[in-house]
Amino acid sequence: MPRILIPTPLRQYTGKQDAVSVDGSTVGEALSALTSQYPDLRKQIFNDQGKIRSFVNVYLNDEDIRYLGKDSTTAGENDTISLVPSIAGGSGVAEPIEQASLSKDEILRYSRHLIIPEVGMEGQEKLKAARVLLIGAGGLGAPLGLYLSAAGVGRLGIVDFDVVDFTNLQRQVIHSTPDVGRKKLDSAAEKMQAINPHVSVTKHETALTSENALDILKDYDIVVDGTDNFPTRYLVNDACVLLGKPNVYGSIFRFEGQATVFAYQGGPCYRCLYPEPPPPGLVPSCAEGGVLGILPGTIGLIQATETVKLILGIGEPLAGRLLLYDALAMRFRELKLRRDPECPVCGEHPTITKLIDYHQFCGVPSPREAARQESKVNEGEIDVTEVKQKLDRGDDFTLIDVREPHEYKIASIPGARLVPLGEFPRRVGEFDPERDIVIHCKSGMRSAKACGILRNAGFKRVRNMKGGILAWSDRVDPSVPKY
Ligand SMILES: [Zn+2]
Repeated sequence: MPRILIPTPLRQYTGKQDAVSVDGSTVGEALSALTSQYPDLRKQIFNDQGKIRSFVNVYLNDEDIRYLGKDSTTAGENDTISLVPSIAGGSGVAEPIEQASLSKDEILRYSRHLIIPEVGMEGQEKLKAARVLLIGAGGLGAPLGLYLSAAGVGRLGIVDFDVVDFTNLQRQVIHSTPDVGRKKLDSAAEKMQAINPHVSVTKHETALTSENALDILKDYDIVVDGTDNFPTRYLVNDACVLLGKPNVYGSIFRFEGQATVFAYQGGPCYRCLYPEPPPPGLVPSCAEGGVLGILPGTIGLIQATETVKLILGIGEPLAGRLLLYDALAMRFRELKLRRDPECPVCGEHPTITKLIDYHQFCGVPSPREAARQESKVNEGEIDVTEVKQKLDRGDDFTLIDVREPHEYKIASIPGARLVPLGEFPRRVGEFDPERDIVIHCKSGMRSAKACGILRNAGFKRVRNMKGGILAWSDRVDPSVPKY
């Protein structure tokens, strides 16, 4: 006799019982037995055709029966069947997206879609009626914006507050060289409208915050996460779970990418996969670690594909599966993802029921704090102009560069000695504790770590060059290239 766990919202139909043991040797039989025992439950679980409703997930033990034998999955004596309805009352795309009729021009434009039976007029009208929010108009947002507008996703929103800079152009193909200095929102929206004037683009010029996220996200059917930082990633996740919106996730680093669909019809969320953020500074950003320019194209287009499939309701969504992509090996792998019943936001007993302070949660300064810290030279730091004066005066001090040799080749400060951070701990003995030491890197993060290593080793006269070689290029010597 398998045991069926009844989730809180359905207990009103089972006389408040949280678990019911029933007869049956398959999941389908067990559910039939359950609903004959509690007839009111039937329409909650099955639709008119007798199929399990799309917003109810059925798990056998820890595994979704969709990945096992569906209704005919064998269920034995010691097995537990869980009913997992979608959370927080959101409909996501579980309810069919409304349709909008196509004009003659649009019929011509979407001809190659219309002749695919899985899309057809009905599908293209669903695309037109769909509302998709892109978080970020950067590396992932670029291919997403271009292809989703071309495909005819009728209402696209973008959240971004950044301006285009030269270092973006290697991968953010929605922006062109003349766009440098413009708002990414304006540049992206212009390209999307040029590709397809039939779609409407809504610009949300703001950072996504705990204060505005629910209000912005609520008007969309699907959210596509193209963020590059952990606080926003957790914020997007929690907001999607709370609103019941699918979260099409992608992330990129150097030659590797990940993609999945979170919070889809009771499926796992980002916190089920990563309950805690990594400690600050452990995982470098693309700005620190670099990224192959093509990589966001590959991952962004996987996200775009999933978005279109969710709208059309076709294929097998990338939910409950984490797709890992390694561009160097040119290999895709898949990991099974499960919803964690203990998940603090999407689990059985959520402890996060409203948005929290995500900067604090991730242990990083808020943008305002970061700006304040940026503007003042703290104790243990030295301004680039002061380093320049020391060099010009011929002061007796050691300038150490803790970047990598390939970065040193791009740009360096004359007189600096290269000791990459990785080698630093074992080379501490090479430095003279009686001498003034100034350490620099690209932006000041790695050199701060190196300063810490020396101070722990008893060095007292150590200072970190604030802002690194980027600040040096901005304020001392513009001929030094920025990268
Ligand atoms: Zn979760």
